[in-house]
Amino acid sequence: MKITTAHGSGGKETGTLIQTIFAAQFQNPVLDRMEDAAVVPGSAQIAMTTDSFVVDPIFFRGGDIGRLAVCGTVNDLLVSGAVPQYLTCGFILEEGLDTDDLERVVHSMQQTAQEAGVSIVAGDTKVIEGHGGLYINTAGVGFVPEGRVVGARQIQPGDKVLVSGNLGDHHTTILCARLAMETEISSDCAPLGGMVGALFDAGIAVHAMRDITRGGLGQVLNEYAKASGTCITIEETQLPVSPSVLHLSGVLGLDPLFMGNEGKLCAIVAPRDAENALQILRSSPYGADARICGTVTDQDAGIVLMETKIGGTRVVPELYGEGLPRIC
Ligand code: MG
Repeated sequence: MKITTAHGSGGKETGTLIQTIFAAQFQNPVLDRMEDAAVVPGSAQIAMTTDSFVVDPIFFRGGDIGRLAVCGTVNDLLVSGAVPQYLTCGFILEEGLDTDDLERVVHSMQQTAQEAGVSIVAGDTKVIEGHGGLYINTAGVGFVPEGRVVGARQIQPGDKVLVSGNLGDHHTTILCARLAMETEISSDCAPLGGMVGALFDAGIAVHAMRDITRGGLGQVLNEYAKASGTCITIEETQLPVSPSVLHLSGVLGLDPLFMGNEGKLCAIVAPRDAENALQILRSSPYGADARICGTVTDQDAGIVLMETKIGGTRVVPELYGEGLPRIC
């Protein structure tokens, strides 16, 4: 069946679409009430975020727009120190979209939500003219445990910089799909609750955390250096990049340092905890290739430096321009 404007009418067809595809997958006690807003319990500091997903193609090696839409929002809550709990999702469907594809995406969202321990408690669907496209907005709510403060302003000279795994996997996967290039590279799209929870459970002094998405690690570190008024020095030899991504990015003239992931994070931790944090990341799902790749100093406020393979030092600039639209 193809999506038609009738599916966005708010009438019988909309109801059928909601019941057979969305409610059938996402069912939970809150959503099943089908009220105008989800009423949920909560009594702590609340973290909220929202993100829109326009990735093209909607299915790719290692994931799809639905998994991405859950991971992106869940990971933004996690790296803010929150425990993600509830998501909402807004679907914008173009006329002509195949409902089998929609069902596949919704099923993938539900599976990912389950893996991440969140419930999808409210949603919306609109249908517009077009060529069978599909866009998703997800908003998320999480609760921040008492006393947990994570953010750029906590970063101090001496802190260590950790990355949870190989850079550029998601970006390269989408690029290859768009260029119709056959590769074995796969998106790293994943919810990071396992590793984040393990870090906090072990009492690691996590000063700041970001998921590494558009703009890559290079952009995350530049934002951190500016926001904290510190200098961040990274070692080129310690940046984890898989051989196939390294090769492909070389061929295409791209730098993995500025390429996006969807299942990796950068954590800035107190120096005494760095080794322990590394072991925790490495033994977490999705963290096998984690590394300690840099140090925070008070050398030159607001800049990022890289100690290169050949023994030099260079400034890592901010990302200018956009290499590839619609990777997420
Ligand atoms: Mg983020």
